[in-house]
Amino acid sequence: MTESPVLTFNDGNTIPQLGYGVWQVEDNVAEDVVGKAFAAGYRHIDTAQAYQNESGVGRAIASSGVGHEDMFITTKIWNSNQGYEATLSSFEESMQKLGLEKLDLLLIHWLQPKQSKYVDTWKALVELQKQGRVKTIGVSNFTKEAITELIDATGVTPAINQVETHPHFNQADLRAFEKEHGILHESWSPLGQGKELLEDPALQQIAQKHGVTVAQVVIAWHLAVGNVVIPKSVTQSRIVENFAALDVKLQDDDVATISGLDKGAEGRIGPDPAESDFQ
Ligand code: NAD
Repeated sequence: MTESPVLTFNDGNTIPQLGYGVWQVEDNVAEDVVGKAFAAGYRHIDTAQAYQNESGVGRAIASSGVGHEDMFITTKIWNSNQGYEATLSSFEESMQKLGLEKLDLLLIHWLQPKQSKYVDTWKALVELQKQGRVKTIGVSNFTKEAITELIDATGVTPAINQVETHPHFNQADLRAFEKEHGILHESWSPLGQGKELLEDPALQQIAQKHGVTVAQVVIAWHLAVGNVVIPKSVTQSRIVENFAALDVKLQDDDVATISGLDKGAEGRIGPDPAESDFQ
């Protein structure tokens, strides 16, 4: 069976570059679809406290027949759990739901600049890593400035930043900053949530040329430019189709064409981390 390539974090641990995201998957559906993802070959699952499906993911982990040492599980601290103590206690709740002793990757879900608890939250993640409860720690929806603040406050550089990224909003500037600091880049809504992006004529042309689907071309582009990528689908055929994007080999000019489709801020679908303020 095809396996995802792995990328190496700044702490020496590794992450399968292609994973499976479960935002907006009901807890009682999560066990079934995550099971299908494991069967299709995915070994990396991206959940979060806010998705309210950590228990379903935990049941899928337990019934998968795959040992935890052969999988990679991410969860994220929700905004209302930010702060040193609340992070530590909510982490324990997440681990109970997931049925795990040690987590592969823990992220701060959103920057929440007005709430301004992200430095204390980061200190709790540093402590969890020191205690050996979490292998790798990182952030999600963080700006360059806020990442710099975390480094200045603790001396610990996040291993990864998970942010909205797809060909219409490709985050070239943030990616360059992360590269300079040895931070991996992880793409959320990598398929643009399956909307207009997949109708882009330039992507359709490249898909036709290779005899593959547009979703596969987009996933192959994320992989080619070095992003960790976590497409979501609850449809069996698409779960398999998205994983098979590992076999799509884009040419350099395809990658350049797709990187040229960026629309700047106009291409953004979700909230701007610098302004986000929600519970
Ligand atoms: P996505 O870009 O992965 O798109 C998913 C949608 O695209 C599906 O619901 C389906 O409608 C469509 N789709 C999937 N496969 C397809 C295919 N092969 N052909 C055609 N259409 C297809 O969107 P997403 O779920 O927003 O993002 C993926 C994951 O990223 C999430 O599940 C979650 O794990 C993570 N995420 C994180 C954050 C964050 O704040 N950290 C925010 C959003 C998403």
